[in-house]
Amino acid sequence: MSVYDKYETVIGLECHIQLLTKTKMYSSDISEYGALPNTNVSVVTLGHPGTLPVVNKRAIEFAVKLGIAVNADIREENQFARKNYFYADLPKGYQITQDKTPICTGGFIIAKLKDGIEKKVNLTRIHMEEDAGKSLHDIDPFETLVDLNRAGTPLLEIVTEPDLRSGEEAYAYLTEVRKLVRYLDICDGNMEEGSLRCDANISVRLKGAKEFGKKVEVKNMNSFRNVQRAIDFEIKRQIDLVEEGKPIAVETRSFDAVNGLTFSLRSKENANDYRYFPEPDLQPVYVTQEYINSVKANLPVLPDQLFTIYTKDYKLSDYDATQLIELKEVAAFYNELIKHTSNYKSAANWVMGPVKAFLNERALTISEFTLKPEKIADIIKLIDSGALSNAAASQRLFPELANNPDKGVENLAKELDLIQNSNSDELQNLINDALSKNPAKVAEYKSGKVGLLGMFVGEVMKATKGKADPKLLNQLVKETLEK
Ligand code: ADP
Ligand code: MG
Repeated sequence: MSVYDKYETVIGLECHIQLLTKTKMYSSDISEYGALPNTNVSVVTLGHPGTLPVVNKRAIEFAVKLGIAVNADIREENQFARKNYFYADLPKGYQITQDKTPICTGGFIIAKLKDGIEKKVNLTRIHMEEDAGKSLHDIDPFETLVDLNRAGTPLLEIVTEPDLRSGEEAYAYLTEVRKLVRYLDICDGNMEEGSLRCDANISVRLKGAKEFGKKVEVKNMNSFRNVQRAIDFEIKRQIDLVEEGKPIAVETRSFDAVNGLTFSLRSKENANDYRYFPEPDLQPVYVTQEYINSVKANLPVLPDQLFTIYTKDYKLSDYDATQLIELKEVAAFYNELIKHTSNYKSAANWVMGPVKAFLNERALTISEFTLKPEKIADIIKLIDSGALSNAAASQRLFPELANNPDKGVENLAKELDLIQNSNSDELQNLINDALSKNPAKVAEYKSGKVGLLGMFVGEVMKATKGKADPKLLNQLVKETLEK
């Protein structure tokens, strides 16, 4: 047993998701990624004196959507609060957030681990707030530049209980968060562009200990993989310190992705006192049960519900279901496809096999795929009727069809001469021919050289120009030889 096995890791995650609203949290400025710097900045965003914030109704709707999806309690009376600090990319000198009255409390997200193990991650709270602008340190060699386009962008902060126990669990949790917000259409979940950000709080303690250890907060991970790497590094660093009898400093650390380590940013001992107080420029927002019900009525089917439908109703494996659900657009394609065929398994194989490979090779997303799901259903029908082999369908027909999406499936299969010979009378004649041409080999077969079966099958297959159904052909040849 290694010394590391004596310890247990405790992790809580704080995620910020940028909402896909058209406008900002408290102003009508456009909220978009990649605009020319400092173009979406009215006097409200710039924090000019005398300007007043107005709450974005759509942001409330998005928070309620998420709250319902994670089974949280949704608060009726929502107050906003000022969090005061001075920074160059925070023109007002304070952030309008929620302090004592987060819009959602409680709820949970189920993270899916290896081997079908599920981990329930309880949520502490979800609250609404606004983003700050962006300081750009690496464009000008001498100066830091400030882009205030992002200032005022609506955010939801999702805080978990200290329920996670490993980097792998954190990774799985984040995967679920991203999937959920994408299905809900409230955030694009793009961590590289910063629309989903995550800080990890990490501590270690001896297994069986009642109290948590001192926690360290790690920031600046720009991918799920890096969150996991940062956590794994921290676990080892903290256990090493404890083993050496050294204290763990309560601090904020940053992740260095190049070297795979964390380094100290600032100590929490002299942490900011933000002097939170109720935002005097905003009335509380009331969320009624009636409103919650109306949002609930318009909620899309969520990944967990789809998983149940796929595995229970369509009898797909957990693996297939997980793969299909991963991306909302792929699941939508599959859902459309199975309106036209009830061969659910084959439909899943087609989406995850030939369709996915075709798109990957061309760096396309499924939304850019021009072939209608019905056409895939037509292919499946042809295969199931025995008129088309799987190999001919995936290797010849499908790529041709994908490039000519308007052609009829059966016509194209005929055009390509792929319709296979499943007429057993005709086949039987060809088999009889082949056998009568090789009496010596037939005798050898009958005296025990059963390996010759393949040779006869090959011969007949050649005679059909490869169009015979291989399974049927095999069976017929065998029967004929053994007569
Ligand atoms: P802070 O006051 O430092 O912001 P919070 O109590 O608000 O700390 O918790 C922030 C996050 O840290 C939450 O996700 C919480 O679950 C997590 N957390 C709290 N205590 C610990 C701990 N001892 N170890 C790991 N994570 C923790
Ligand atoms: Mg906190």
